Amino acid sequence: MSFLQLKNVSKTYKNGMREFTALENIGLTFSSRGFVVILGRSGCGKSTLLNLLGGIDVPSSGEMIYRGKPTKKWREKAWSEYRKKSVSTIFQHYNLFPFMDGVTNVMLPLLIDGEKPSVAQRRAEEVLALFSLSDFSKRKVDSLSGGECQRLAILRSVSKNPQVILADEPTGALDGKNAEAVMALFKELSKDHLVIIVSHNRELATQYADRLIQMNEGKIVSDSKPIEATQENELGPIGPKIKQAKSGSWAFLFSKEHFRSRKGRNALGIIAATVGFAASLLTFGFYFGSTTAVERSTSRYFDYETATISKKTVQTISDSPLQLTQTVRPSRAEAEQFSNYIDGLRVELDFSSLFIPFPNAACSGQTIADFQYLPIDGFPLDEHQTAMISAGHTPNVDSLDEIIINHELETELKTLFSLETVLGLKIHLSINLAFDYYTGTETPLFITDYFQFDKEVTIVAVATEFSFLNTPKAFYSHRAAKSFLKSALLPNLSSYLESEVSWYHRLQSVEGSDPLSAYGFRLFLNDEGQVGKLYALAKKIQDGTTENYLISSESFLVKDTLLSMNQAISVGLIFFIAIAWVGSIFIIGIIDFSSFVEKKKEVAILYSMGAERTSIRNIFIFESLGIGFLSVICALPISGILAYILNQMATKYLGLSDVVAIPFLAIGTIPFLLETGLLALAFITSYGATMIPLTMFDKISLADELRDE
Ligand code: ADP
Repeated sequence: MSFLQLKNVSKTYKNGMREFTALENIGLTFSSRGFVVILGRSGCGKSTLLNLLGGIDVPSSGEMIYRGKPTKKWREKAWSEYRKKSVSTIFQHYNLFPFMDGVTNVMLPLLIDGEKPSVAQRRAEEVLALFSLSDFSKRKVDSLSGGECQRLAILRSVSKNPQVILADEPTGALDGKNAEAVMALFKELSKDHLVIIVSHNRELATQYADRLIQMNEGKIVSDSKPIEATQENELGPIGPKIKQAKSGSWAFLFSKEHFRSRKGRNALGIIAATVGFAASLLTFGFYFGSTTAVERSTSRYFDYETATISKKTVQTISDSPLQLTQTVRPSRAEAEQFSNYIDGLRVELDFSSLFIPFPNAACSGQTIADFQYLPIDGFPLDEHQTAMISAGHTPNVDSLDEIIINHELETELKTLFSLETVLGLKIHLSINLAFDYYTGTETPLFITDYFQFDKEVTIVAVATEFSFLNTPKAFYSHRAAKSFLKSALLPNLSSYLESEVSWYHRLQSVEGSDPLSAYGFRLFLNDEGQVGKLYALAKKIQDGTTENYLISSESFLVKDTLLSMNQAISVGLIFFIAIAWVGSIFIIGIIDFSSFVEKKKEVAILYSMGAERTSIRNIFIFESLGIGFLSVICALPISGILAYILNQMATKYLGLSDVVAIPFLAIGTIPFLLETGLLALAFITSYGATMIPLTMFDKISLADELRDE
């Protein structure tokens, strides 16, 4: 039995439709020691032969027999075992890893073989010392000369003590002195190993080799010391048994070095992913914070505890497909049923048919245009309202003479009258309305009464409301208005009925679509905690189709507007994030793609050293996980800072505080859920991104990748 044998081996390559025979019927037998040099012209098949011996390529026909075992049936695992333990290939262009120092390059095959890093390092240093190359130990490979690299590549191949050392033109790129040193090194090694090299240099080969094999056009033309295949031959020593370390530990070390060597590219990847993550965090924070911000800001309306309840009626128009929807006042009983749902809800008559929301107003004869004249529950103000008074004092609870205005109206008045302060400013309000009362008899058919309200009111306080989407307003006491209307009579109707009818009395008795009924009842809530309930009820009624009621309020309207804006912005931001992500992935893809060629070569080198598929996968997974992890680490503080800036701007320009609230500490009751989720997302994304190029690596042809151009 022979140590290593090629039996009738041929290798053909397909070049399109043409088949090319690179090796034809090769029969060669090698013993376990000695220095063999293969000579021949370029293109005669030397490298192809070496690739077959190195387990980098397989024959098209014939077979290789190693230690008496045919290799024909070997699968991936057996081949990687062969490359890992038994054979080392030295490439003409060294194929060292330039980003690692000498000693790490030399120890790499040992690590791949499962040796512990400390043992591997010791062994690598010993090997370097043995061949007097200890100075290379800490030097990065890219600082070494060609001769030095070649010697290091040879040491790398012997560090794991393989039985077969193969080298493709190891002296091709070296000057005479270096070439001799390398040949001497091989000579030395051949005492214990089988060294097979390809060379052009017949002179050196003759000087050092034990056996010369001459090739021509894919065939062996001469062999200086052939070994008969039938000849009994020893199988050679088996390499040292290495205790297996945890698989993949070398992959981690390799990926660490690899990662460091690509600082620029990785930094780009990290920046791209950071942008994606930070954008997502900000959107998430906006989604989280803005609803609460809206909630908080609508409570900064002076009359936000006030709402109106009205009823929608639908009238069919005869001989027409059209329907007329009208808003009318419900009956008091209908309105009061809502008190069942909300504690402390008070149903009051709405006075807006008399105290119209836009009365005529003038100051010193000059008209003041368009401000809303609105009732609030009455003075004294509650705690919430008091907090909003920025100037002045609380008005008299039972007087219509005093009003509170909001900041928007204050600004308008200050400009209009060039005032320093509006406190004490008197405004003349006048309302003149005519109401007909249908008698149902012939004469008179209608009784007409005139509501006349001429009053000089004094501004006693200014309320600072949430300014975003706000309009100028003045507030009067609903309670004072009520007592005023109770005492004010309708003179003509009273005399017709021969009893005293007050405006309040009249207002109370009308229903539905009577112009005096206004369009609803006023709802007042003194308990701030119940406002949310009222809003929810209003929303529920609004969204439902069967209910005919409508609960509306200015602050609810603003809240609705803000919430829809908020939703629209969130949707827009999701779109923005999607673009950011696509951009990030695109950049990462470009970075990956640009290093694909380089990676392919590296993967091939590692495969040729016996690395297994899983370890190689691990290298790239570790690396992309590293990018993912670092991007999350960067994205967290960056998004925090951006959120702070955005919040400052939102407070300044919109009056909304904490619009972006990224839940860094906990979501609900689960602490650090965001960070954990983000890391998981980063891992999944980078794992996915790594798997795509890796499937391509599975298809690479080792021989093609390792071919020296
Ligand atoms: P040498 O090492 O002696 O220069 P090679 O073994 O590299 O020669 O190549 C032998 C022949 O096989 C050459 O003509 C080369 O072009 C051809 N060859 C090698 N690899 C391939 C391949 N993957 N596809 C097609 N032809 C190949």
